[in-house]
Amino acid sequence: MSKYKITLIPGDGIGPEVSLAAQRCIEATGVKVDWEVVYAGAEIMEKAGTPLPENVLESVRRNKIAIKGPVTTPIGSGFRSVNVALRKELDLYACLRPCKLYPGVRGLYNNIDLIVVRENTEDLYAGIEFDEGTPEVKALIEKIQTLNPKAKFNPHSAISIKPISAEATERIVRFAFEEAIKLKRRKVTAVHKANIMKATDGLFLRVAREVAKRYEGKIQFEDRIVDNMCMQLVQRPREYDVLVLPNLYGDIISDLCAGLIGGLGIAPGANIGDGVALFEATHGSAPKYKGMNKANPTAMILSSVLMLHHIGEAKAAERLEKAVAQVIKEGRQVTYDLKADRNDPTAVGTSQMADAVINALK
Ligand code: NAD
Repeated sequence: MSKYKITLIPGDGIGPEVSLAAQRCIEATGVKVDWEVVYAGAEIMEKAGTPLPENVLESVRRNKIAIKGPVTTPIGSGFRSVNVALRKELDLYACLRPCKLYPGVRGLYNNIDLIVVRENTEDLYAGIEFDEGTPEVKALIEKIQTLNPKAKFNPHSAISIKPISAEATERIVRFAFEEAIKLKRRKVTAVHKANIMKATDGLFLRVAREVAKRYEGKIQFEDRIVDNMCMQLVQRPREYDVLVLPNLYGDIISDLCAGLIGGLGIAPGANIGDGVALFEATHGSAPKYKGMNKANPTAMILSSVLMLHHIGEAKAAERLEKAVAQVIKEGRQVTYDLKADRNDPTAVGTSQMADAVINALK
């Protein structure tokens, strides 16, 4: 009998290939899973009339644990992000993205082991947007100018709203500190632009400082302005430990940190709420590699490692992470992005790299 019932959302683009690789690796650890496979994205939209059918949300709510391949979001117009909607609908407020450099990965650095904690539910990702020239944006601009006559901006602007609340900030900063304690880390750095956005980022920083006081003597705390943070991470990444950020900066800094550890093919992630968790790589659907058996499955396999830890299968998680590390260190059966030369003909495909990880588990 299966021990765990887990929702699997294969996604699109490279999603189905990297999800299958992760699924096979989880099964190879011996952990028994009854997979409930449900679909989201553009293809299901043609059949269901929505890119995020209710049965997907129901499945994740019921099973409490999900693993998901990336889903494409049309740029500029078209439907809103399924990924953002899932996080909001399920109140998966914390996005946890460990960025660890495995020996064998070529890069500018060594010994990087950062954790990015990104707020997942508000900020400019709230989806409160007003297109240029619409009656709504005109009314909004008039309203803003009555409320604040000093507000000077082009009356033909489009507007995106950035809500940041004390409640959401409190829980994400608390989450970052609790993770720091759980993972025996030394420091939390809050990242913001409070010098410019005094209302929203000012609130984020004030609340972060208040939460930090509760952990005084246990975990150090500091803050950085986001632009300076980018430079510091490139120059001195080892000075940092756990970073906590509002949604948009978290998105950008996650990719920067993925770059420090060998690229998007390696960076895993987890979206965590109270009682529900959804695991997915930091990377997107890389449509140009769709169906080519080319994408690196590591980010999804390491997301599975996070999932195994989350469900209490620490031994299986550690074995799987060790197997991934071994394959990367040997550097033979790895995908193109982990080779010194991206055109190296000895690079293997997605499924072959997953086979190598499975063999290393034995
Ligand atoms: P992307 O992460 O899909 O790809 C950017 C580049 O990174 C790729 O072209 C490729 O060179 C490299 N890359 C990414 N994943 C890789 C892997 N596993 N192995 C090897 N190389 C890899 O980012 P994008 O091109 O900006 O986005 C494509 C689509 O994905 C967009 O529609 C975007 O909205 C969506 N997206 C989805 C998620 C998600 O589902 N959580 C996250 C980010 C982007």
